[in-house]
Amino acid sequence: MKLDCKIKIQDRQRTNGSSTLKAAKGVVGLAKSNNDEWVLVVRLFKDTNATQYKLRDNVQALLHRCINNGMATIQIKMPPHDVQLCEANVESLKTLLSSVRLASTGSNLPSSIRSISINAVEKLQRPALQLIVNQAIDYPTLKGFPSTLEKLIVNAAHLRTPVDRRIFTLKNLHTLDLSDNNITELPSGIQMNHLHTLIIRSNQLKSFPNDIKCPTLKHLDLSQNQLEKFDVALLNISTLERLNLSSNKIKCIPRIILRVLPQLQVFNVASNLVRVIPNSIASGGTRLHTFHYDDNPLATEKMITCKRFNTTLLEIALRAVIKYRIPYDFKTIPRTLCLLLDEYETCAHCASACFIRFGEIIVPKQLSAIGVTVHVTAANQSFAVPVQERYCSIKCFNYGLKRAGMIQM
Ligand SMILES: [Zn+2]
Repeated sequence: MKLDCKIKIQDRQRTNGSSTLKAAKGVVGLAKSNNDEWVLVVRLFKDTNATQYKLRDNVQALLHRCINNGMATIQIKMPPHDVQLCEANVESLKTLLSSVRLASTGSNLPSSIRSISINAVEKLQRPALQLIVNQAIDYPTLKGFPSTLEKLIVNAAHLRTPVDRRIFTLKNLHTLDLSDNNITELPSGIQMNHLHTLIIRSNQLKSFPNDIKCPTLKHLDLSQNQLEKFDVALLNISTLERLNLSSNKIKCIPRIILRVLPQLQVFNVASNLVRVIPNSIASGGTRLHTFHYDDNPLATEKMITCKRFNTTLLEIALRAVIKYRIPYDFKTIPRTLCLLLDEYETCAHCASACFIRFGEIIVPKQLSAIGVTVHVTAANQSFAVPVQERYCSIKCFNYGLKRAGMIQM
């Protein structure tokens, strides 16, 4: 049997348990030696030769606490090496370890375990990890993509909708760049568990699929597309750290953006149609450190945009649900109330929830005070951005007006 994974071989005597060596791609397997005994064969693709370890009476320990994460260590007695395996297929790794255990005691291995050829292992080529297609003629239309790819860049290859679904079945991809094509829509049902970077810059996208499942996605670039609104589907990718939506036609940033994207550090909405930004971006206490806001139609005047304080039973009930953390879902209360509860904004003074009854002002703010670097066009020397602040009550509203210098104390 053989298993593709990442491997690190550590000499226990030399490294004293710690090593700066990195795990490298390779193959580990079981082979029968000339005297009919099982040996462990380890080959790193960066090396030409494979290393063989006798197994009978020569295994000190099998460390398998993280086996369900595809990690395990085989400790060999002589030489005193730790063969550390990671990013392995879990089932294959379990089979390998149970076979190593049997071989170490001299027991027979199941008939399903076949000896590998050491010569064949030494001839194995490093699997293709990266593919760059810069023109349509290089696109592997007929032969398809190697399933081992971790990084795929398809630029200026005239890709259109529907996009080749084979791209989204590459389970090992961590970076996918489809910039400079003519894609208007992504397919539904995308699930890529290792993807951390998705770049679809300079296409014709009008929306983003709401059923995309990329649980490790950190960097998403949808700049230079045709997005007319901030797609709510983006709010489901809670792992995002960098989001680039520049050069679209977005008018409004959702108020809850930093509540549902708590990891967001760099947010780019330059060259859109955004007039004001929600107070959550300007209120601090988040991971956001860089905000690109160049080339948007700025609201430069301080102004009152809403003043509705006649409290209703609905407002009181909704505020109580948030205050007392009462659980709710579509089955227990109407959908419209659920949507209201999901998208409330907090009072800029006392942090109470505001729903329908509130006071709202637009006031230019410097975000540098909360540690956010703002990029604005040169014409806006002040680096202030127009922030939409909401206040839950007349008392808080008056406080906000005073702070903004809109009424005298
Ligand atoms: Zn308040």
